[in-house]
Amino acid sequence: MPPTQHKDYYATIGVKKTATSDEIRKAFRKLARKYHPDVNPGDKKAEEKFKEISEANDILSDEKKRKIYDQFGFYSDQIDPAAAEAAARAGAAQGAHGQGVPFDFGGFDFSEEAQPGSGGGGWGSFRDVFSGMFSRERQAAHGPQAGTDLEYQVNVDFWTAIRGGTARLEIQRQEVCPTCHGKASTGGSQTCPECHGSGQVTQMGGRMKFNIACPRCGGTGKVQNACPTCHGEGTVYKTEPLEFRIKPGTRDGQRIRLAGKGNAGVNGGAPGDLYLIIRTGTHPVFTRQGDDILITLPVTVSEAALGSRIEVPTIDGRAQLRIPPGTQSGQKLRMRERGVPSATREGMRGDQIVTVEVSVPQVRDERSREILREFAKLNPDDPREAIWAKV
Ligand SMILES: [Zn+2]
Ligand SMILES: [Zn+2]
Repeated sequence: MPPTQHKDYYATIGVKKTATSDEIRKAFRKLARKYHPDVNPGDKKAEEKFKEISEANDILSDEKKRKIYDQFGFYSDQIDPAAAEAAARAGAAQGAHGQGVPFDFGGFDFSEEAQPGSGGGGWGSFRDVFSGMFSRERQAAHGPQAGTDLEYQVNVDFWTAIRGGTARLEIQRQEVCPTCHGKASTGGSQTCPECHGSGQVTQMGGRMKFNIACPRCGGTGKVQNACPTCHGEGTVYKTEPLEFRIKPGTRDGQRIRLAGKGNAGVNGGAPGDLYLIIRTGTHPVFTRQGDDILITLPVTVSEAALGSRIEVPTIDGRAQLRIPPGTQSGQKLRMRERGVPSATREGMRGDQIVTVEVSVPQVRDERSREILREFAKLNPDDPREAIWAKV
């Protein structure tokens, strides 16, 4: 029975053995972003690497699986975590007795019917411990597996987000393989390359060594011939053009869910969903804040002081705005229902908020200077009076 390869999941993800689940998650995400097949289309090495980190994450992110892995240096669904812990305790006790030889459980029969090995000393108690460790039923090697979700960011220009329209993008998704129809195999079988047909592999669990059903073939010793098109994956990557509707009033960061448009499932598993995250473009004059439009508008000193009616740009074109007499720089004026039509509340729309910016004239002629001096004489109030009163 050839031993299965030892995999250092911690090294794969690049974290210490003492890493917290949060650290593991962060490290995995960072690697997943780098090696995801979506960002490396057609790159077999990246795909392989992505599989490795996914496998490591699958074990390390699950507290129960991680415990078993930490205990034995490998993981198998056939090991019951409680029994694994008992085994570890028993192993520790045995170690305390000063036995430096690794226990060889190879070929040992763990079934209930087996008699404890005669003359084996502590073997009987070990049998009890290990008999509960492997569940009798092996998991179906290839049950239906649901497809994963996909997430794409879509950039939509300022006006399309406000007025609505269509957006197009190309997505890379896993589709059911057209050759094997997702079965991953073309029928027929061959000797399992992992266990060379024996159906069992030897695993080292710390100082203990024992046999488990081969994870590759599920103990049958045979594997199905892999489909040549999808290399046994059941799915193939396909680039697909996608066209979808942008609702008027779509906001930045909005998520659109397209059910069933994610990666295909395997063996009849349901497909994942596709999530589109909308990023809306900016405009040199208008700024969006939810359904409101913000704009900074310069006005002259006389328009602000005397009050006036001025023309203001809005997303629908020009509109009239009354500047009340004595309007200060920085003052905000609200133009009701001149903002963006709401994408979620029928018939509602936001406001436009105008921030007044009083533009001070560059005085070049003597006559204007005279008028301003005269104006100052008529209005001797100190605008800093309120500040002086507070210091
Ligand atoms: Zn096998
Ligand atoms: Zn196939």
